[in-house]
Amino acid sequence: MKVYLLNGPYLPRFTRDMRWQDTGRGGTLYYPVWLAYATGMIEQLGIECRLVDCAARGWDNAAVLDDIENYGPDWVVLDTSFPSLNNDIDFAGLLKASMPSVKVVAVGAPASQFAERMLVSGHIDAVARWEFDFVLQDMFRNLRAGKPWRYVAGMSYCDGDRIVHNPARPFSRSEELDAAPFVSRVYKRHLRARDYMLNYSHSLHPEVQIFTARGCPNRCTFCSWPQTLTGRLYRARSVRNVLAEFAWIEKHYPEIRQVFIEDDTFTLHQHRVLEFCRLYREMGLRIPWGAQGRATLGIEALEAMREANCLMIDVGYESGSDDILRRVRKGITVQGIKGFAKRAREAGMSVHGNWIIGLPGETRETIEATKRLIRETKADAITVAVVTPFPGTVLYQELQAGGYLVTEDPGEYLDERGHQKSIVSYPWLSAEEIRRAVDDILKGYYLSWRYLPIALRRVFNRHGWNELKVLWRSAVAFLRYLRGR
Ligand code: SF4
Repeated sequence: MKVYLLNGPYLPRFTRDMRWQDTGRGGTLYYPVWLAYATGMIEQLGIECRLVDCAARGWDNAAVLDDIENYGPDWVVLDTSFPSLNNDIDFAGLLKASMPSVKVVAVGAPASQFAERMLVSGHIDAVARWEFDFVLQDMFRNLRAGKPWRYVAGMSYCDGDRIVHNPARPFSRSEELDAAPFVSRVYKRHLRARDYMLNYSHSLHPEVQIFTARGCPNRCTFCSWPQTLTGRLYRARSVRNVLAEFAWIEKHYPEIRQVFIEDDTFTLHQHRVLEFCRLYREMGLRIPWGAQGRATLGIEALEAMREANCLMIDVGYESGSDDILRRVRKGITVQGIKGFAKRAREAGMSVHGNWIIGLPGETRETIEATKRLIRETKADAITVAVVTPFPGTVLYQELQAGGYLVTEDPGEYLDERGHQKSIVSYPWLSAEEIRRAVDDILKGYYLSWRYLPIALRRVFNRHGWNELKVLWRSAVAFLRYLRGR
């Protein structure tokens, strides 16, 4: 049996596995992280797999259909995302038209929300919902043992005219995460690390993205993954297991210069962070790393991370308005954000700050407050997202109930070049104003003399030459984006 796992063709450099999917204004291209985990889990069963990322290879439909035909798989695992969903279902149609005997199983965040829509298309044989790497492993284990593939938890499929949704698979347990293969090994076997780039500050190229934990118990209403893919239940690999992967990367994957911990929030439990940092140093590891975190982290953990070679932390600040932060249940305040920015500076930690424009309660005044807070917190780099209510999230339900959604078709989330546009419009703040505010903030931050000392701070550090290259690449991508607006 052979399995072909596909991050299929869509817009150039479109990233399905980003939290806010688009074609990357700053030149970012994520690994197909979840698909890579699934590849490892299926290979663990002794089944031959091929993982293909069309975004990295620049392949169109014809190129990938040729490749699938040459490979001759029994199954294609097709990744999906909300913005590309219509395209992904159409691609499955093309695949079925040219290779009707190949079975298609769809995965990705939309699978938990739109399994029915995928199956009624007639192009998709099965849908693996939620944490799909484990569902696929159960399914292929059955197939390999000659048992029916359908009867596993988390699977949806057609039975004649009837659509069947098996009960959800319980979320993975921490021990199951420890038993999963290192995703960095999958990257090495199937992908080219230099194709991928994170335009965070202090991001050394090439790097790998890994998960050390899944799920987030926090209740931010806008956040898609815990509400559509990974769940609220927090489960974590043991620190020793994670550091064994770091050690493997240092020894067997020498081109990798940095590890980025892509967890929903790596810093959820400060004691785990401290243990991680202590063991990192005891093991004599050297590879730099960065992580997703929360702007609630204390100085002790920040200093420990810095001493353990963590170069940057990526945090969600979201808004300069306490009212908005409360409405979206972010669990932090403006004062808290300021305090964190100060602590991070004291610890010598580089910060990538993430902001969202257009959340419930947004007005022209709150946008100004956010601009002020962005200037005050002086992150090394920022991302500003147009609010995107993903189906399945509390935010989506709220905006839908309030009549603030311009469309309910996720295919409308991006413009023709793959950049975010607003599908949210309030009587007091239009979709176009929201989109324009994002561009204005980014221009005001990066193209202002105020950014010069921050850029110099980035360049005059231990990895200054690398930083200069990241800044240059990001600047070119950003100016190209602005030119097309
Ligand atoms: S803390 Fe982060 S990962 Fe958790 S729900 Fe909020 S935004 Fe999502």
